[in-house]
Amino acid sequence: MKIRFLGTGSGWGVMIRQERGTGGIWIEMKGRNDNEKIIIDPGPGFLLRAKEYGIDPSELTGVLISHTHTDHSEEANVAIEAMSLGHNGKFGSLLAGHNVLVSSDSFTQAVSEFHKNLPEHVVEMAPSSKASVGKIEVFATKTAHYEPKCVGFVLDGEKRIGYTADGAYYVGMGSFFENCDILIINNFLPRGLMMPGHMNTDMAAMLLAEAKPKKAVITHFGREILDAGPDNEAAFLQDITGIHVIAAEDEMEID
Ligand SMILES: [Zn+2]
Repeated sequence: MKIRFLGTGSGWGVMIRQERGTGGIWIEMKGRNDNEKIIIDPGPGFLLRAKEYGIDPSELTGVLISHTHTDHSEEANVAIEAMSLGHNGKFGSLLAGHNVLVSSDSFTQAVSEFHKNLPEHVVEMAPSSKASVGKIEVFATKTAHYEPKCVGFVLDGEKRIGYTADGAYYVGMGSFFENCDILIINNFLPRGLMMPGHMNTDMAAMLLAEAKPKKAVITHFGREILDAGPDNEAAFLQDITGIHVIAAEDEMEID
């Protein structure tokens, strides 16, 4: 099992200036038979970061997109092309929140109608829905984000990996992430700072206390937590929860 961070940045300024990358999270994991290769939230820079880090996007078997904000979905269409074109017939699995797939008055779908026709499986994910990438089961989790159809994911294969996606903590959130080997938390803000629909470190502590993963990784950092120092926030979380917590860095790999 391998996780690689093609980006650990978030928010307008950090994304536009690419102070931290926004290319998503690459996961390689055995299902019960096959080695699946999955990108979660391919934001701006996905293709370039993949090339830089020696990753071949044409090996993708799954594209997971939590919501339609640009830092999560800007390179959704090229990720799908990487996965699907080049195979004879439809190939791969696209699992995504509603607004990623369907436009409305408030949101423009991130995945074009053309690209929705390329994967073998396209599944719209809502909280508690289940799908799979090969033999890896994927569960969608509820979020409290201002993109109302945003979902998080739990990938259950060789290991159980949770990904909160964006959003604030809510009571009971941890129940979605029970028994995770690794929980990846989009920890946008440091301790003491609040912004509606976003996770700060105080909230991450509450989530960890409920979910009790074996290991946690904080990522998706906005300007304020980068200034506070993600390592300091991770050390705080580790101290008060007793759980091993790492602050992700671009290109970081977890085996
Ligand atoms: Zn968002």
